[in-house]
Amino acid sequence: MAVFSAQDFADHEQVVFCSDDKSGLKAIIAVHNSNLGPALGGCRMWPYASEEEAVRDVLRLSRGMTYKSAMANLKLGGGKSVVIGNPRSDKTPALLEALARAIDKLNGRYIAAEDSGTSVADIKYMSQFTQHVGGTTDKPSDTGMRSGDPSPATAYGTFVGIKAAVKERLGHDQLNGLKVAIQGMGNVGADLARQLHAAGARLWVADIHPEQTHRTAEEYGATVVPTENIFALDVDVFAPCAMGAVLNDETIPRLKARVVAGAANNQLAESRHGAELARREILYTPDYVINAGGIIDIYHERIGFDRVALIKHIDGIYDNLMEIFARARAEKKPTGEVADTIAEERFRR
Ligand code: NAD
Repeated sequence: MAVFSAQDFADHEQVVFCSDDKSGLKAIIAVHNSNLGPALGGCRMWPYASEEEAVRDVLRLSRGMTYKSAMANLKLGGGKSVVIGNPRSDKTPALLEALARAIDKLNGRYIAAEDSGTSVADIKYMSQFTQHVGGTTDKPSDTGMRSGDPSPATAYGTFVGIKAAVKERLGHDQLNGLKVAIQGMGNVGADLARQLHAAGARLWVADIHPEQTHRTAEEYGATVVPTENIFALDVDVFAPCAMGAVLNDETIPRLKARVVAGAANNQLAESRHGAELARREILYTPDYVINAGGIIDIYHERIGFDRVALIKHIDGIYDNLMEIFARARAEKKPTGEVADTIAEERFRR
């Protein structure tokens, strides 16, 4: 298979293929860019249908991390790792150890964190064999001590990002009475719902697993709606917090919200969908800008955790978004395109 000429190969600095017979490890580590610092990014375990699919995923995801960290003003580059396998049946201590030892051989050029298919507990286990992991330290939060899980920080950043988008598109700072539809009541979505409720917002929520929505409905007075309707509600903000590619040819014509601002990764099915949202005057809040709270959290864990400094850094998502919105307005360009340009200016500097 072609690598250098592959569509997703975008000047990656290093791509490492790792295997270990004993544990069955088959993993790929990609360092996209390390101009700003070591490449930090999650370790994803997934039963990829083909090796090509795994390569494509790791290349695309590692590149995304470069943009995310640069945009969040972190001294980090972009990297990612993928393990080919089923996390439910193939993830053994031996496999995690082999993965950690492979990461260790890169001497800190790549730092692993949790992602789909790996947990904070897995990364903590790997920390016995390499110091080049992140997101493993327990720390205080406004709901008590929390594990290395970056989700609460991601949810807070998303909350801040929604405020910026509301200011830009609706012209006010008022979350009281704001109507928000949240797709996905997982770790991030549920905590976002908690914060929006506390700020007086009215909530509509959906999840493919109904048990996820019950608590939100009870505690925050949210209205539970079927998953197929959540993006088409007559609300102010649609907050995708579930899966990617949710903004596509089918959903965009049905959107009534004037703002799309949520934590999910890769929300645009294709980049042309960003232009389509702009054409319809729906403000799209670029996903990797608004969902950077988690990586900011992991970064602060590395430099010495200080909660006040962390919150201040995450609050910077507001200013980043305002800069993007202003340039998008002035240059008449989609917000996603402007975000990419700003990130490139930062990491290529
Ligand atoms: P999660 O797995 O805890 O929650 C996702 C929820 O979405 C689950 O409850 C799932 O049942 C639900 N869901 C899946 N498909 C759905 C659908 N079609 N309609 C409605 N609900 C659906 O994940 P999370 O950690 O809360 O992350 C949410 C999103 O944010 C993901 O896209 C993730 O990549 C992104 N993200 C998360 C973090 C983080 O710190 N956790 C950081 C950056 C980005």
